[in-house]
Amino acid sequence: MTYDVIIAGASFAGLAVAAQLGGKRVLLLDRKPIGAGQTSACGTLVSTLESLGLQASIRQVHKRLVLHTAERIFAYPVAKQPFCTFDYAHLCRLLRSQSDAEFLQAPALALEQHGVQTPQGTFAGDIVVDATGWRAALAVRRFPGLIRDDRLNFGLETSAHYQDDGLHFWYDPGSILPQGVAWAFPAGDHTRVGVGSYAGETRLKNVLDDFLGGMNLGSNGFHGGYFPHALRPPLVDNVFLVGDAAGQCLALTGEGIRPALFFGTHLGVLLRRLLAEELDLQAVQQRYRTLVEHRRWGYEWLCRAQRMLPRLPLPVLKVMMGFMEQPIVFDQVIKVYTRTFRLDAAEMVPALPVVSAP
Ligand SMILES: Cc1cc2nc3c(=O)[nH]c(=O)nc-3n(C[C@H](O)[C@H](O)[C@H](O)COP(=O)(O)OP(=O)(O)OC[C@H]3O[C@@H](n4cnc5c(N)ncnc54)[C@H](O)[C@@H]3O)c2cc1C
Repeated sequence: MTYDVIIAGASFAGLAVAAQLGGKRVLLLDRKPIGAGQTSACGTLVSTLESLGLQASIRQVHKRLVLHTAERIFAYPVAKQPFCTFDYAHLCRLLRSQSDAEFLQAPALALEQHGVQTPQGTFAGDIVVDATGWRAALAVRRFPGLIRDDRLNFGLETSAHYQDDGLHFWYDPGSILPQGVAWAFPAGDHTRVGVGSYAGETRLKNVLDDFLGGMNLGSNGFHGGYFPHALRPPLVDNVFLVGDAAGQCLALTGEGIRPALFFGTHLGVLLRRLLAEELDLQAVQQRYRTLVEHRRWGYEWLCRAQRMLPRLPLPVLKVMMGFMEQPIVFDQVIKVYTRTFRLDAAEMVPALPVVSAP
């Protein structure tokens, strides 16, 4: 059988695409069972999950962001646009329940002329979506220069008991990491504590152990990985890239879930319109490129901010962070930051299905 769409990667981006393609012949491929491969701290905006009917996966709501530096703690209230931490497996199950795609647990190995090769055979598909995360497992075969080491951040995380509310970040180049941050995201009965390197440094185990030790915290298992911090092409030949595969994770903040859900949903809507013959392939490719291009300025701005951060003298940073604490300033910053990927404001997204927990 020939599928209308083959989606490689069934995490945030791939599942969001599939959720918009009900009634079509869609094959979802992932090397792991759906919901089994958590790499992230799973912090995002409450409104993002609400707009997709995924709020049942929320573990804890956060009404402040807190930045710890060697000399001062800065607190930023976000009660008007609260953040949350959610359960990865639960969110994946909810998104999966919005789609009737066929799922096959198998790695996508390579692109064939009209389909995707897996160890279980080659599956024919008219449209291929690469949502395999930073590795872009399919697209990289067509464009080996797609993945650049100097455009990858790396994070390592564990689970601990840090009793507090809010999403906490530490920036202390002298004693934690010269080019990176640490974080603690409480999520109900545990807290996700991690360190991330803007230089793509992968040997972070000792850094994380020292950070935990300094706070008298134990650890429980480790997970992590790379996350890109610069946009890649949204299309390679005729393959659509989405989420981390397309470099859609934001620099500086390392936020990739909201963009993956946003671009995944939009791409799903565009593909549905293509299959309904409302748009032709060229128009869909053009619209998807434009959707990404419209946000390029924000990606580039955050990239520059990430590069600049380690070069800023600490007293200057302190003044900037203090300035941002003023409600009138911070409200504006957060307004722009949250508006960029707001799904309910998206011109192309029709009413999204809202489902309850399975
Ligand atoms: C330590 C850490 C903490 C983070 N914390 C946050 C956070 O709190 N908030 C936030 O917004 N972002 C966070 N991020 C970034 C975020 O995790 C990513 O941006 C996000 O997961 C991207 O979603 P995705 O669907 O594109 O890719 P992924 O979530 O990486 O999913 C890719 C999927 O593809 C599958 N796959 C891979 N190769 C193949 C193949 N060959 N064939 C088939 N399937 C394949 C994988 O099994 C996986 O299911 C964090 C990242 C890290 C590393």
